[in-house]
Amino acid sequence: MSLGRVILVGGGPGREDLLTLAAVSALKSADVVLFDRLAPHKHLAEMAPQAVLIDVGKTPGHHPIPQIEIERLMVAHAKQGSCVVRLKGGDPFVFGRGGEEVAACRTAGIDVQVIPGVTSAVAVPSAAGIPITQRDVSRIFTVVSGHAPLSENELRGLAGLAGTIVVLMGVSNMPQITQGLVRHGMPANTPMAVIERGYANDQRTLISTLGSIVYDAANAAVTSPAVIVIGEVVALANSEGAGAAQLIRESASHIPWE
Ligand code: SAH
Repeated sequence: MSLGRVILVGGGPGREDLLTLAAVSALKSADVVLFDRLAPHKHLAEMAPQAVLIDVGKTPGHHPIPQIEIERLMVAHAKQGSCVVRLKGGDPFVFGRGGEEVAACRTAGIDVQVIPGVTSAVAVPSAAGIPITQRDVSRIFTVVSGHAPLSENELRGLAGLAGTIVVLMGVSNMPQITQGLVRHGMPANTPMAVIERGYANDQRTLISTLGSIVYDAANAAVTSPAVIVIGEVVALANSEGAGAAQLIRESASHIPWE
């Protein structure tokens, strides 16, 4: 039997219309789709009409199917001759373990291709009206994984950059991150935002400051998935945003194609 292949597909931040044309075409030709929960998956039955759909249910802090088993499934189906699409949230190589999955395929002698996706690190701030760079405001952006606590060296480096800091998977470690940045000299009044469930109907943005966000996020019962943005660009989201914490329940107003 001839070998199949694997296509790692970046699914973007969760909405079908943020899939690339290459992603749509890969789904059309898929025999098997292994999908994560943060990837757009509601209409997979129509988008991948011939495919067996397997929910590998990866959400932050909750991996019902271990990574090693995902890789085993991917390789096993490809060895049976299938075209396997591994549909991931955002971009496969931005904290997505895409590199490990590519390596697993190569080790098994399976042909593997990667289709990049729209990463939540850039797209979710944009959904809240926050540009991650802006002339004369910020010319650096750093994307950080908040999955594990940051080291003192990392905090010191970030605090000294004076650009935009974007944290993914950072809701639980927000106290450690914000206190560390202040300890290393970032002003406590630096604007900061947490955007929950970007592009979903219940997207919500909390705007506060480095010094107050932990308190404000607890009051607002902020939960994952969320993208955290730290830096002066946050003030551009909404000119009345400075001062007291603000909860903005998003309408579609920042999403021009709706
Ligand atoms: N590869 C993905 C990131 C995987 S890490 C990418 O490029 O986007 C998972 C984290 O991404 C979540 O914990 C959250 O911080 C962020 N995230 C992904 N999609 C999101 C969404 N629609 N809304 C808010 N945060 C999101």
